Amino acid sequence: MNTSEKLIATEQRLGAHNYKPLDVVLTRGEGVYVWDTDGNRYLDCLSAYSAVNQGHCHPKILAAMVEQAGRLTLTSRAFRNDQLAYLYEELAALTGSHKILPMNSGAEAVETAIKAVRKWGYEVKGVPEGKAEIIVCADNFHGRTLSIISFSTDPDARTGFGPYTAGFRIIPFGDAEAFAAAINGNTVAALIEPIQGEAGVVIPPAGYFTRIRGLCTDNNVTLILDEIQTGLGRTGKLLAEEHEGIEADVTLIGKALSGGFYPVSAVLSNSEVLGVLKPGQHGSTFGGNPLACAVARTALKVLTEEGMIENAAEMGDYFLEGLRSIRSNIVRDVRGRGLMMAVELEPEAGGARQYCHALKERGLLAKDTHDHTIRLAPPLIISREQVDWAVSQIEKTIT
Ligand SMILES: *Cc1c(COP(=O)(O)O)cnc(C)c1O
Repeated sequence: MNTSEKLIATEQRLGAHNYKPLDVVLTRGEGVYVWDTDGNRYLDCLSAYSAVNQGHCHPKILAAMVEQAGRLTLTSRAFRNDQLAYLYEELAALTGSHKILPMNSGAEAVETAIKAVRKWGYEVKGVPEGKAEIIVCADNFHGRTLSIISFSTDPDARTGFGPYTAGFRIIPFGDAEAFAAAINGNTVAALIEPIQGEAGVVIPPAGYFTRIRGLCTDNNVTLILDEIQTGLGRTGKLLAEEHEGIEADVTLIGKALSGGFYPVSAVLSNSEVLGVLKPGQHGSTFGGNPLACAVARTALKVLTEEGMIENAAEMGDYFLEGLRSIRSNIVRDVRGRGLMMAVELEPEAGGARQYCHALKERGLLAKDTHDHTIRLAPPLIISREQVDWAVSQIEKTIT
């Protein structure tokens, strides 16, 4: 057995099997590329589910992390640190948000928003105690905690984990009429992904979010956009909400907030929602720690300073054009926005996973989702030549 076979066998033996990874054992990453233990190079077209938007091991984020790690890593929020205020200031300047709450994982940011909007519902909106409702969409993905999977419609994510958290109303994604019909006096919030990533890069019809924004405003409902995957440049804008020129009341970011170095997430709020949380009512030992803040500050800085968002818009268009030019009778649909793309195959093609295996053999890593869809999301620093190469590998694989 070579090294990778040994490591895979050990994982199989000792690890919980809650993932089914492609059998590639990675040991190094730089920019858009990763290398396995046998020395093979791959173009990463998943970017750790968009956590590595800035590219692997970005040297400036690395330097900030090393510098901060040698100085101060964790104080807990029992004391203050000299990085958090700067992160607040820089995030506020970048996004226009008025209040920020730092957490670690994306799921924690979602949980935080759910807690805050419920409390806001009772204390500010005047919803009767215990009656708060949150509208969510079918085929959503917001994380893996119990409350979050309580409103998942994916049987794998949900079945067997009850009793479930109540208070969620599920409607179809992209259907503004269903949204309007679901609102009642107890509706405190709507929690929606701008583009449903895990569902297979599902883009709602034009005008959907403008309508949702209007309905939320008219009915005093807090609009929470989960931009954990779509945010921070992935779709060619800083936040995906900008594509429709709207502003959420609460925006959730995570993943690329650290450029893949560290779990950092945040709840951004431009309403009174976060104001309802008082000392002792919410927290996290690691949330807002100086190491996370220093890493996040630099991750945001390189994202904007190095033109990554503009590159995502330009290369996204170019990549999509390339994918659309592929003539293959097994391709059902090609869709995307910025560098968040998907190739949906015909069901007769035999499943996307085998194509992801074949792409791996050609040196391109991508992830299948929902049986028939290949999701493509390279780091935002990808070049035109690298896009050309990726399109030609995909073309050879599916024709
Ligand atoms: C990844 C993701 C989450 C959960 O983030 P974790 O860091 O894995 O907890 C939530 N929402 C969306 C849209 C995501 O893509």
